[in-house]
Formats: sequence, structure tokens, C-alpha cells
Amino acid sequence: MITIHDLMQLTIRNLSKTYSNGVQALQDVSLDIPTGMYGLLGPNGAGKSTLMRTLATLQEADSGTATLGDINVLQDKDAVRRVLGYLPQEFGIYPRISAVDMLDHLATLKGIAGSQRKEVVSALLQRVNLWEHRKKAVSSYSGGMRQRFGIAQALIGDPKLIIVDEPTAGLDPGERNRFYNLLSEIGENVIVILSTHIVDDVKELCSNMAIINGGRVLFAGAPEAALLEMEGKIWEKSIAKSEVDEYHSQYKVISSKLVAGKPIIHILSDENPGNGFRAAAAGLEDVFFSKIMAA
Ligand code: ADP
Repeated sequence: MITIHDLMQLTIRNLSKTYSNGVQALQDVSLDIPTGMYGLLGPNGAGKSTLMRTLATLQEADSGTATLGDINVLQDKDAVRRVLGYLPQEFGIYPRISAVDMLDHLATLKGIAGSQRKEVVSALLQRVNLWEHRKKAVSSYSGGMRQRFGIAQALIGDPKLIIVDEPTAGLDPGERNRFYNLLSEIGENVIVILSTHIVDDVKELCSNMAIINGGRVLFAGAPEAALLEMEGKIWEKSIAKSEVDEYHSQYKVISSKLVAGKPIIHILSDENPGNGFRAAAAGLEDVFFSKIMAA
């Protein structure tokens, strides 16, 4: 018998996967993922989808283990699917049928009895704020509405593990905010893994995170712990566009962004580098880029 208490942690140990073309998408990945929102941050090609798809029982790993409470994730696939909600990166073709009919259909597939289904579907549509639009075809939805619909379908059946793969890519800032609010309401008593290449997603939402690149874990822990590691080591300077290359060759530049058309660079240095640099507060972007550069 699986109790809620047993489901509170996902433990991943030494997970590895090499595709037939030789790409090592996961290399000895070990993570402890507690209840709440967990950010899996990495650039494109880092191995995030491979990890998400493996946990969602959609593909096999070569070696390693994953356990969710009592469930052996890599072997007891049916048991995982009973407690899993998954929002894939590519949702495939959006159906031309209405959101309410589509959710009803998906709820049937998930085994929700006819007598409860109407209530479950209505509650979900209200929860993701699509009630007014329930009779419109999902194919006519905006990007933000589609993602909220995606969350509604992932929530069918009261999942304990929710996996959302790159959910905010392509959303405008307003849609992204609405989506953040929705996700933050969900992640209280369940494990929500949010895979993303967008640092802000993690900054806004996640109490724990991992940074991965090249299939390896570069950092795992609380975002604040990562920021603490960087404290006093980030220096910034506003420079001319023509100086960018020169600074890149002289310093460990971890990021460069334009502010009002002028580049502001961040460098990593234990000591005050002088030369007009000033101390800057470390942000999660600094953590992300410095971990990736150091790997
Ligand atoms: P992310 O989700 O972080 O962008 P992926 O897990 O999709 O990363 O990909 C990790 C690496 O594995 C990339 O180099 C990608 O090209 C490669 N890859 C992903 N899927 C396959 C596949 N089915 N066959 C071969 N290589 C793949």
C-alpha cells in the first residue's frame, strides 16, 4: 500500500543514457527531489527532456535507479503512471475539439468514472482559469491558454508527481506570469519538476533546483545556497560595444547584457579586479552561467 507520505521524495541515483548516435544525454545523474517546486535548469541540449521523459516512463535509461516513495520508477511503469501528471515540451497536434470535451476524453482514458468526470473536468477548467473558454477548440487557444490547458490535463487524477518540460517557452510576459501563479498554487503537497532554460522560471518558483549541462549535474540545492556561493565574487562594468571582445579575452566574463543599448558585463573574480569594475549582487543568472562555464 502506497501512502502519500511515502511519495514525498523522488530519489534518482547514477542515471545514465547514451543514444544510439553516441550522444551521452545523461551521465551519472543523482538527485534528491522533495515535495514542492523543483527547477531543472540547463541550456538547450543539456539532457533535461531525456531526464523528464525517463521519469515519465516514456523512455529507458541505460543504468541507474529512480524511486518515488515505494515505487521503482524505471520498472513499475504502471504504478508511476497512476500518480504522474506530465506536460511534455511538444504537446503534439492541438485538437480541434473543445477544451471541455478534450479533458472529458482524457479523464475517461485515465479511468475516472462517468459520475465524477463532469465535476473533475469543471473543477480543473476553473482552476486553470479556462472556464469561460471551455467551449472553444484547443487549437484556437493562445500560447498561454494552451499551456494552462496542458496543466489541466496533467492534473487529471490528482497526481503526486507532476513533470512540466519547458512550459514557458514562447509565452509573452503576461502569460508567463499567469502561468507562474498557476504552477505555484499546485506545488504544495506534490512534487513538481519544472524543466527550463529560463533562469527566471526557477527564480520565481522553485525552492530547490539543479543545474545540468552535457548530461551532468553541476549544482543541486536551494537557489539561495547557490547565490551564497557567489557572494562577493561578481563584479560588473558598463563597457563600449567595441570593447566586448577585449574584455572576454582578459576576464572570466560570465554574462553580458545590453542595458539601454550599452553592454554591461559580469565577471567572476575572488578579488576586486579594479579597472572600473564595481561589486554586484549575485543573481541566479550569474550562478547559471558560471557553473556552465566552469564545467
Ligand atoms: P534538453 O531537453 O535539455 O534540450 P535533450 O534531453 O532533449 O536536452 O537532449 C540531450 C542531448 O541528447 C542533445 O545533444 C540531443 O541532441 C540528444 N538527443 C535527444 N534525443 C535524442 C534521440 N532520440 N536520439 C539521439 N540524440 C538525442
